[in-house]
Amino acid sequence: MAMKETPDKEHLEQLLRSSRLVAGGFLGDDTRGVDEIVEADTGAVFSLGRTTVEIAERMRVVSEQARRGLGTWVRIDATHRAMMQEARGELVCPWPHPGYFHKAVTTVQRTDTGETVEFSDLNIHMVEAHGFFEGRGSRFRIEPERLIRVLF
Ligand SMILES: [Zn+2]
Repeated sequence: MAMKETPDKEHLEQLLRSSRLVAGGFLGDDTRGVDEIVEADTGAVFSLGRTTVEIAERMRVVSEQARRGLGTWVRIDATHRAMMQEARGELVCPWPHPGYFHKAVTTVQRTDTGETVEFSDLNIHMVEAHGFFEGRGSRFRIEPERLIRVLF
C-alpha cells in the first residue's frame, strides 16, 4: 500500500519515536525511518501474497469475535482461538487521524501449532491505513510473516 505523503514528516517521525502517545514509542530501537519500515513490511506482505487491507480485515473480524468473550478465549474457527483484554483509555493515531481507538489487545492463537500473536485496535488501523507494523523493539511490533502465519 502506498503511503500518502505527509507534509510534516519530521514531526511524525519525532512523534513516533517519543513516548507521548505510547510508552516506549512506536519505533522501539529501530534505527530505520518510518518510510523504510513501511516499505520493508508491505514488501514482505506482498511477497507472501497478501495485502495490508486483507490482513486488517481479518484482524478486525478476529478481534470483534474475541471481544464477546469478555477476557476469555473464544473459538474463532477449527484452528484459531482469540482473547481480548480491554483497558481503560484510548489511543490516537500518530499520523494523525481523527478518532480514538480503545485500549484493547487481542491475542490470537493457532490451536494446531500453539503459536500466538497479539495486536491492539490501533495496530489494526495502522496496518490498514498506513501499512505500519511498528518498529523493531517496540511493544506492539508485529512481524508481518508471523502475523500472516498465525492469522490465516
Ligand atoms: Zn491513522
